[in-house]
Amino acid sequence: MSEQDMSSKEKTLFGKGLNPSNILPKKLTMNSKIKFRCHPGVECFTACCRGIKIVLTPYDILMLKNRLNMPSHEFIHKYTTPVFLEKTDMPGVALKLAEDGDHKCPFVTPEGCTVYTDRPSACRYYPVGMADFHEGGSAMGEGHDQNEEEKFFFIVKEDHCKGFEEDKEWTVAEWRKDQGVDVRDEMNKEWLRLVMRRKSFGHQATLSEQAQRMFFMASTNLDAFRKFVLESSFLDTYIIDDETVEKITNDDIELMLFSFKYLANALFGAEGLSMREDKIQAKVEEIKQRQDDSVLESIKAYKDIKAARGEEVDPDL
Ligand code: SF4
Ligand code: SF4
Repeated sequence: MSEQDMSSKEKTLFGKGLNPSNILPKKLTMNSKIKFRCHPGVECFTACCRGIKIVLTPYDILMLKNRLNMPSHEFIHKYTTPVFLEKTDMPGVALKLAEDGDHKCPFVTPEGCTVYTDRPSACRYYPVGMADFHEGGSAMGEGHDQNEEEKFFFIVKEDHCKGFEEDKEWTVAEWRKDQGVDVRDEMNKEWLRLVMRRKSFGHQATLSEQAQRMFFMASTNLDAFRKFVLESSFLDTYIIDDETVEKITNDDIELMLFSFKYLANALFGAEGLSMREDKIQAKVEEIKQRQDDSVLESIKAYKDIKAARGEEVDPDL
């Protein structure tokens, strides 16, 4: 199944899903009432677990690979497929669907989801999507805390979903609590901001390949990111206090949250991480040297052109 085919249906993670015709044109708040229930008795049970794109957040990957007791790289290789996030050049992963038949999720069975208590964020949000008035990244920068007034919700209603015909009524807040969405919101918040921030740049600038690789590694493979932090020159380059080093050495969630801070700094120059003075100086010298080299190169090219034309070259150049 191509990425394009998969995109036609998506359990929404980044605000609005990709098929606007399925979005009910009504903004909901935490107190809005919804009538919905999903349970094994519905006629459509697990219909939403096939032919659908489920993008994974770093926290989703961490929870799933721990549940399946496998290292990050093995989980990524076995259960995911690469995608670009939110029409940006930021690489991420989505669950790899079966290639034949009805393209089902690797974790679905006739009895339901086999990883239910660790199911991905997008599966928990469905069918209530969340957006905020700052979608697009304009005010989602560092230090900006999304407050309740800025959030709104919307319903994704697909024809096959019979959950809306059930009698259960609850507020959006009650439904979200039941789905364990609040913890996910907290864990995903900074990472989603990175993607939305990147999206707000549009196509004006592209991420270097090195930046893309770093984003992918930090977002999908915490084992590799830990190695990068602890076993490269990272700790000689950045000022990181001992307590933080201790935390990120032993605690995956602390490491993940630290990776978001690092990415915000490396990709967008956000505050929160400081380089050691001598490293800054060395970096400045390196940039100067690169500039000097390119100036020398262009002078040489200029001289060559002049010489080829038989023109005189300014001796002071
Ligand atoms: S992870 Fe579970 S809930 Fe999500 S699509 Fe797969 S089977 Fe369905
Ligand atoms: S009721 Fe909706 S959410 Fe539940 S299984 Fe059916 S399609 Fe999926």
